[in-house]
Order: sequence, then C-alpha cells, then structure tokens
Amino acid sequence: MDTKLRGFVLSVYIVFGLPVITAHNDPSNKIMEDFSGYPIHEPQSQDSLLSLSVDSEGLQKQIDELSTLSETPAPSVTRILYSEKDVLARRFIKNLMGLSGLSVREDAVGNIFGRWDGDEPELAPVSTGSHIDAIPYSGKYDGVIGVLGAIEAINVLKRSGFKPKRSLEVIMFTSEEPTRFGISCLGSRLLAGSKELAELLKKTVDSQNISFFDAARFAGYANHLQDLTSVFLEKGSYSAFIELHIEQGPILEEEATSIGVVTAIAAPASIKVDFEGSGGHAGAVLMPMRNDAGLAAAELALAVEKFVLESGSIDTVGTVGILELHPGAINSIPSKSHLEIDTRDIDEKRRNVVIEKIHQSALSISENRGVKLSEFKIVNQDPPALSDDLITMAMESACQELNLTFRKMISRAYHDSLFMARISPMGMIFIPCYKGYSHKPEEFAAIEDIANGVRVLALTLAKLSLA
Ligand SMILES: [Zn+2]
Repeated sequence: MDTKLRGFVLSVYIVFGLPVITAHNDPSNKIMEDFSGYPIHEPQSQDSLLSLSVDSEGLQKQIDELSTLSETPAPSVTRILYSEKDVLARRFIKNLMGLSGLSVREDAVGNIFGRWDGDEPELAPVSTGSHIDAIPYSGKYDGVIGVLGAIEAINVLKRSGFKPKRSLEVIMFTSEEPTRFGISCLGSRLLAGSKELAELLKKTVDSQNISFFDAARFAGYANHLQDLTSVFLEKGSYSAFIELHIEQGPILEEEATSIGVVTAIAAPASIKVDFEGSGGHAGAVLMPMRNDAGLAAAELALAVEKFVLESGSIDTVGTVGILELHPGAINSIPSKSHLEIDTRDIDEKRRNVVIEKIHQSALSISENRGVKLSEFKIVNQDPPALSDDLITMAMESACQELNLTFRKMISRAYHDSLFMARISPMGMIFIPCYKGYSHKPEEFAAIEDIANGVRVLALTLAKLSLA
C-alpha cells in the first residue's frame, strides 16, 4: 500500500460539518485532538496535550527585535514603506520564513509569501498574514503579531507533526498604512486586482516628490516597471484567508475575553469638501452681508453627526477629522473652508445613505449661505466585508477545543482582510490589547494573549487545510 495512504484513514469524524480524515497509526501524523490539545474521542498522552505549544519567549523576542527596526526611538515605532528600515524588516521576515522551512516569493510591490506545501498542493492554499509597516510614532503590535504570529503558528503545527493537505501560506502585505503614498492597504488592494490602483501608482509621488516606482526600486522591487497587473491574484487563489490582529479597541480586555471572532469589517468612505465665500473684515462686514465659508463648514460638520445618528445603528459612525479655515485670522471672516469626512458602517447601503445626505446638505448649505461648494469629492468608498461562515465556525470550534473564551465582534478599523475578502473567503481573529490603544507607543498586547491568538490561528489553519 502506498505509504501516504497507509498513514491515512482509520479515523473519520466531523469538524465543523466537514469530514476530516486523520491518521492514527503513523506516529509522525498527529490527529486533530493533538492540535486542539484536547482529547476528543480518545485519551491523549501528556505529550500530545502540549503539542500546540507556542514558543512565547521566542515570539516576544522577535516582536522586540522587529520593533528596533524603526526610524524613531523606542518605545515608538515608525516604519515607512520602502525605507531603509522597512527593507531591513522585510529581510528579517523573509529570514524567519526561511527558518520555518517556507518557500519564499515576493511580487512586484513586495508582498511577501511564504508557503508550506501540503500533500495536495494543487488545491487552493489556506493563507494568513498581515502587515509590518507602522505609522509615525506608533506601537510594535499592530499588524506585526499577524505576521510573526502566523509564522509561529506554522512552527507550532510543524512541531506537533501536522501534515497539511492544502498548502499553508503566510503573507506579509506591503503598506497597509497610507503614510507614504496616501493609499491604505496598497499591497492587498493590488492583490485583489484593483486596476484603478495599478494605474494610479504610475503617477503617484510621496511628499518628497519621489515616485512610487523609484521608491519601490530603492527597496529592490518593481523591476518590471509599469506593469503591476502581475501582482493581481485571481478569485479562488486561496480557499481561505485569516488575519490575526490586536483588537485596537477595548472590548476584549474589558470583558476579559481571550479571542474575538470577527464577523464583519466596517468599511470607510472618505469625502473632501471645500466651501468658498467672500471673506472680509471681521468688524466692517455686517452680519446680513456675510457669506462665511467657516460657518458653512461648521454647519456641515454638525449635519454629519446628525445623519449618522439618524441611521439608528450603533455601527454607523462619522467623523470630521479635518476642518481648516482660510485665512485663519481672528479678525478675518473665513473665505475658504476645507473638511475631510470619514464615515463607516458594516452595512454599505446604510453608509451610502449617509453619504448622500451629506451631499444634499452641502448643496443646501451652500445655497442658503451664499457660499460656493467648490469641491465635493468622494475619495474612496470601499464596500464592507463579511467573514465567511465556515471560517468563523472553524475559529469558534478552535476556541472551544482550546478552552478559550471568545465572542463574535465587528472590526471597526479596516485591515488587509477587507481587500482579501474580494478574492477569498475571509476571517479575522482578534486578541485583547491594553485599553484598546493602537497607533501610539503605548500600544501593548500581553504575550499570553498573543500566544492564545497564535494557537487559535494554528488550529484554524489546520482545520481549514484538511477541509
Ligand atoms: Zn493593522
């Protein structure tokens, strides 16, 4: 009998509704109970109970070491796309992937892939990953635990003797943060096949007027210039994509819950608005004669709040994060105003209703106040994403088998997963972080919580690999 086959069969049981074939007679092939660390239908030895152990010390060391590759001093982390530190950090990640026995590939913009071939490599792989770029003066966990944690999840599975059926792949996405070129989730948007972005990048420059392509070349990428369609992945390239991430909110920590199983990712829309009035002297121009661009902006900002609250859902949010007045003098009536509005929801229709109301309101404010609405631009309007049911079920049963508390939740920040959802069934695992802090040096996640996330990730990958 074929040795591969001999190792199989003997135990068929159901994991989240899908039959899973496992091996009992080959000591190098551990059965699913081993991965859960939990006896399911047969008592396991002490050793196998420990088989899903995370090298917490090693993982913490890696997190700390990666954080030193920063353009600002500790405890802050600043790692900008294609900078010298970014290049070093990429080398660090590729090296770790190599040490874990993964075959490493990079695409034209520097998305990095590390693959562990499964027994049936022709099947669509299961993938996991996140980003390691960091906005100025931020922390060392955002994104990082979803990359280093994913590599450690592979190590966990390898140490336990697991043999994947579908290949497993770790992805490090290029530029999740918009810091350098003003485009968030640059790598995952391109992977998901954004033709608009592939075009836009041809003429994109940073604040120093360095083109995207020159910057990429500095980091050793984009040699086949001008054709970024090579980065696109077809729908169905992966059977599943899972991202491990800190919550970036306070719920899990407040509730002392170990794991958040993300059911949906809210999607942002951003809008830029400009009003123009005639300005004038703050003393000389009488009130009935004014057309104050500043008051138009103020009125619109309050209208944004009103429309968001009118949606009736706690999941609808809106923020005017930028409000600028020109010329910005105490004794001058504002002649120009500029607003930037961010609105998000997990329900695309509901969010788009808010956008439409904001637009109508801007038009009527401009008419009533006699100011010109010189710009109303929807900068981006990404659709929200729902997690895949089979993946969330796999994550939930992983939590149960690992005896970890969990809750379903929404991701109000968005992630590379939002774009991966366009080409693959998607799920996200959240872990608690201190006070929900993120994007600042105080960002912190306890290694115990990270290790729990890694175990849930490892077990979920194992289940999906065999599915
Ligand atoms: Zn992130």
